[in-house]
Amino acid sequence: MKAIKYISHLAFTSSLILLFGCGQSSSTTQVETEEPVVQTPVEEPPAEPEPVITTASVYAIGDVLLHDSVYNAARVNDGFDFDSSFERVAPILERADVAIANQESMIGGSEIGLSSYPAFNSPFEIGDALQRAGIDLVTTANNHTLDRGVRAIENSINHWNEIGMPYTGSFLSEEDKANIRTLTANEISFSFLAYTYGTNGVIPKQPYHVNYIDLEQMRPEIEKAEQTTDLTVVSLHFGTEYETLPNESQTELTQKLADLGVDIIIGHHPHVLQPPKMLEGVDGNQTFVVYSLGNFLSGQQGDDRNTGGIIGIDVVKTTEDDVSTFELKNPMFYPTFTQKSSEGYYEVVPLKSAKPELFSPVSNHMSQWLPELTIEQ
Ligand SMILES: [Zn+2]
Repeated sequence: MKAIKYISHLAFTSSLILLFGCGQSSSTTQVETEEPVVQTPVEEPPAEPEPVITTASVYAIGDVLLHDSVYNAARVNDGFDFDSSFERVAPILERADVAIANQESMIGGSEIGLSSYPAFNSPFEIGDALQRAGIDLVTTANNHTLDRGVRAIENSINHWNEIGMPYTGSFLSEEDKANIRTLTANEISFSFLAYTYGTNGVIPKQPYHVNYIDLEQMRPEIEKAEQTTDLTVVSLHFGTEYETLPNESQTELTQKLADLGVDIIIGHHPHVLQPPKMLEGVDGNQTFVVYSLGNFLSGQQGDDRNTGGIIGIDVVKTTEDDVSTFELKNPMFYPTFTQKSSEGYYEVVPLKSAKPELFSPVSNHMSQWLPELTIEQ
């Protein structure tokens, strides 16, 4: 129904005559004339429905790869304390609507014996600490997924389930793998998938134990994700170790995923930072990719391998006339550095406070293909 408003044209002509005597008497005469009231119906244009806009931020961190130096330094009386490791960066992760971590070493727990390079097994407590630091989902398709066999995979997944942490990339069963993990924030829904280039030559006992990068296997999962939720986030464990720029197979694969409609691609494995970029898919769609987030927490040595960070992107959903469109905005990077604290444990801290001389070169490196990238510190 159209809103019709009546506007009254009402005009008064007033005249006021004041007559003042000379201190003796005064009299006032007021003459008022009123014109007839004219009421004209004015049709307003139909009220434009206001578009509804919501925003959800997605943050991600790189490899959590626990060498023995890291877990031994985190030992406390009855287990391991990794909360201190994330204390300085947890406030950044907590402000994200969705925060993802790549748990590269499986968390098979102490009961099967902890181990370091080349076949990792990590304590459960790292998972608890990531969750307390604000992580909402972990990816577990890595070249180290099969390091300690089926037991480590099952123990890891049982622990993720116990603490209610969604995981993707390595699964307990076909059914578990077919259940694509989703999260919804501010009425924006996300699907999460994760794949690795390989598993150091170890053959999986079951195909669902780890997801490999294989476009034919990935395509149906991506298509299902695209149909199920608003956005698809794919983690890729790929690239050449210690290379600071993506290789051709990385850029080719990410473009193919952009063409399939994938919205956000989080890369890791090179142990060093590779820059983010905005790709355009075949349908003109945007795809935000970061080729490598480096190490977030590890026992590797060297400034480049201890430099990592938190990448962030805002998803803006605009709904008008029951049609929703999505935009990727405000890319952000918060560089971090892993160092040994004065008390001996490993901690992830802002790069600027640990290595101020690296802040500018790292900022330039990360924004080379994305000048609008905001570097925070
Ligand atoms: Zn790796």
